[in-house]
Amino acid sequence: MNQTNPIQHSIYILDTAAILSRKQFDDRVELMTVSKVSEEFSPGGSSYRWFEYLLEKGLRIIDPSKDAVLLVEKTAKEYGEDTRLSETDKNLLALALDISNEAGKNIVLVTDDYSMQNIADVLNIRFQPVLERGITKRFKWIRRCRGCRRIIHEDIEHCPICGSELSYVRSRTTPLKKKCDR
Ligand SMILES: [Zn+2]
Repeated sequence: MNQTNPIQHSIYILDTAAILSRKQFDDRVELMTVSKVSEEFSPGGSSYRWFEYLLEKGLRIIDPSKDAVLLVEKTAKEYGEDTRLSETDKNLLALALDISNEAGKNIVLVTDDYSMQNIADVLNIRFQPVLERGITKRFKWIRRCRGCRRIIHEDIEHCPICGSELSYVRSRTTPLKKKCDR
């Protein structure tokens, strides 16, 4: 019989908040994170002990390929999320991209960060929120002039027409490609 339990082929990629939430995952799920997340846990304290416990249970620390990081950066820039994502966030997304190329694996990025969820969906990576509800629409940040309200497509700080500062607004919401499974 070729029946397989999807849980057994699942890899959950955890961000710092997902680890700190102390959520218990099914023992058959593989857990992964990146070294930038592990650097956020310093010896001493209960958070560190929890992190060590996850390591003992098999949490693996793997860093993404440069190509994947570049693709995440390019996508984040395109969606106006570049400055909203930390290096750690970008590494986690890139790791999810790398791993998702392995056939037959169900990759889930576990995060409550809306920008990560947004870019994950753009990149066809499934996400799962931890404590929050999670985004329901994919979106793009665009620049709009605070003065004349024009939408500005260039990568600039001030309006070329009236000189006012630009602000970011969410636009182009689209339904999620991958429904989050919470
Ligand atoms: Zn203007």
